[in-house]
Amino acid sequence: MFEKLIRQDLAEFNAYSSARSLNLKGNIWLNANELAYDLSNEGFNRYPEPQPQELVHALATLYQVSQDEILVTRGSDEGIDLLVRLFCTYQQDAIMAFKPTFGMYQVSARLQGVEYFEYALDLTNEFTLDIDDLLKEINKKPNIKLVFICSPNNPTGNLISLEGIERLCLTLADKSMIVVDEAYIEFSGEQSAASLIKQYDNLVVLRTLSKAYGLAAERVGSVITNARLVSLIKKVIAPYPIALSVAQNAVAALQTARLALVKSKMFEAVRERTRLFQYLQASSLVNKVYPSQANFLLVQFKVDIFNQLCQSGIIVRSMAKVFNDETMLRISIGTVEEVNKLIKVLENINTGTIGANNETA
Ligand code: PMP
Repeated sequence: MFEKLIRQDLAEFNAYSSARSLNLKGNIWLNANELAYDLSNEGFNRYPEPQPQELVHALATLYQVSQDEILVTRGSDEGIDLLVRLFCTYQQDAIMAFKPTFGMYQVSARLQGVEYFEYALDLTNEFTLDIDDLLKEINKKPNIKLVFICSPNNPTGNLISLEGIERLCLTLADKSMIVVDEAYIEFSGEQSAASLIKQYDNLVVLRTLSKAYGLAAERVGSVITNARLVSLIKKVIAPYPIALSVAQNAVAALQTARLALVKSKMFEAVRERTRLFQYLQASSLVNKVYPSQANFLLVQFKVDIFNQLCQSGIIVRSMAKVFNDETMLRISIGTVEEVNKLIKVLENINTGTIGANNETA
């Protein structure tokens, strides 16, 4: 029963009752202090639905869950923050996540004033997760309310098996929520943990349209979990998190023809990932390139080439602070042309052409 894990001071809390959340029927709307004139002819003078029904329907179909098992959020970032706020009491509870992993789990923990524990993934073993060891660490701490499992993990690119996730859900049923962040799952071709939410009520899955679906600018994330928890999260979400224009654009982007395009670009990204991986593995500039199931590669170069790439107009993500090693870079997979240019620049760096004359590719 996950209910006992939510913040006790929120158990009796009533959400803000917005005009649209009352679901009243009528044709003269004098209840929300909006301008009565629709100057846009698109209904932009009215507040949007708190959960835009058409979008919820499209996402539930996409992720193969029921409509009451999904909450649409302003990107997964908002989903992460809502979970931390709902489950973690200030200066009392804690969160566990991988080291390294996506930085927003720690930011949300800090903002909520809760402790953040890190479970170090084994760099020498390509970051493979030892579930028993993670469970041992979690069980040493009393108040870990949320365990974030980023799969595929950012920035390491490795996937955590569904068997492992099930073990965590079962073993921690009375203690912690297991939050599986699947921002990059589409690039792995593997099954989503959303297929398990009916079996484990302490399981939450985060999905996003920001990555494979090419809609980062729209800010559309989904929290997928059991219907009881969805209605509890609605207590802490902002009254109208999804703008009408965002809902319209996202629904349009989820139509069949565009989804076919998304699929073909996703396959292209995976092909480019393989091509770049193979190039890097053979490159004498590289110490180690880590296998990835996401749309990026984590690479340890022999020297720090971040600035040389910048000089050539190629911006990658430095992982210097995360690994305490300035030769570690995370490289997102670009278009075929962008990967070609990157390879050309790397060739030039290798032959010493870049740096000497600032040649760009
Ligand atoms: N989760 C992971 C693992 C991410 O890497 C990111 C963004 N880089 C997010 C969530 C945030 O996604 P969104 O754009 O949906 O807020």
